[in-house]
Amino acid sequence: MKIPVLDLKPQYESIRADIQVAINRVLESGAFIMGPDVKLFEQEVAQYLGVKHAIGVNSGTDALVIGLKALGIGEGDEVITTPFSFFATAESIGNVGAKPVFADINPKSFNINPEEIKAKITPRTKAIMPVHLYGCPAAMGQIMDIAQEYGLKVIEDCAQSFGARFYEKSSDINSKFTGTIGDVGAFSFFPSKNLGAYGDGGLIATNNDQVAELAKALRVHGAKKKYHNEMLGYNSRLDTLQAAILRVKLPHIDAWNDGRRKVAEIYNELLVDVPGIITPKLADGHVFHQYTIRVTDGKREQVQQYLASQDISTMIYYPIPQDQLPVYQGKYPVNPVSDKLAQEVLSLPIWVELHQSTVEQVVKIIKQALSR
Ligand SMILES: *Cc1c(COP(=O)(O)O)cnc(C)c1O
Repeated sequence: MKIPVLDLKPQYESIRADIQVAINRVLESGAFIMGPDVKLFEQEVAQYLGVKHAIGVNSGTDALVIGLKALGIGEGDEVITTPFSFFATAESIGNVGAKPVFADINPKSFNINPEEIKAKITPRTKAIMPVHLYGCPAAMGQIMDIAQEYGLKVIEDCAQSFGARFYEKSSDINSKFTGTIGDVGAFSFFPSKNLGAYGDGGLIATNNDQVAELAKALRVHGAKKKYHNEMLGYNSRLDTLQAAILRVKLPHIDAWNDGRRKVAEIYNELLVDVPGIITPKLADGHVFHQYTIRVTDGKREQVQQYLASQDISTMIYYPIPQDQLPVYQGKYPVNPVSDKLAQEVLSLPIWVELHQSTVEQVVKIIKQALSR
């Protein structure tokens, strides 16, 4: 039996009736663009996250771009971010005319290392864009301290971290959701994300009224009042159909995130003493969008190929760090930790309904691959 890296079908089957009611409601209403479900979803997300404003947009990428624009970031500005992410992170910074500057990562969390941020600050630095990669909250306590000290904005890339919370007992942001700590949180509802639509979708979260007002205008061609366009904006609305689907899913998100964590715990228990494998930390608040191990000693390809030969799919997120992608033509200095991890990471099958016996099977094959 083939084991994919993600199977969305069992989740759909568990909510099929509710999804079909929601879709039919939109079809019957005919309100496909900015229908009532969009506003209701925004209100429900704002309430869930405990944030003042939630603004639906067309994708996670657009949430980053519009979030940056609404924060006033553009030409001549620098934004410090992680090299170890999907390219939408750095691309969004470039697409508003600013320059991404990369600070190396912490090998335990796979996230931007606050110690590396300060050295990258210049008079042009305007913001920090941490990514909560794989669903693991970045070191927001230290990041917010640096931002405050240097007067920088913080825009969180939460594409992989819906429902993740940051825990640091001594901190005043203890237990806050990712995306509600910085000035802007940018979420993606790409189907494979923890809260996934059945198409593209994204959302901006902010407690800042002015940023919210600008973001709302930017998503509809820069118009606060229809046909009174005040600035160049975008066509970037969250579809009513997707909002209706997401409203069915939102009440399940905590249970689903808990389910992913349970799968991660099982993997960790089974892999803990396997030589050549470094398991991810079960950090508090981590929602395991991906379960990603490190395969050391140059054995990753061997392990991945052997798993594939046994019909087990895995993924490499990401084979090339953003700063080393062809688009930048080698003009960024290397980040040793990020470059090393790009050679070692391997994301294993994970979804809520994944059976313990399948996890055991995957681990068995990994052990076989390493002993060959
Ligand atoms: C998925 C993803 C995005 C982009 O989200 P889209 O909705 O696909 O535009 C941005 N950043 C990260 C880290 C992602 O994983």
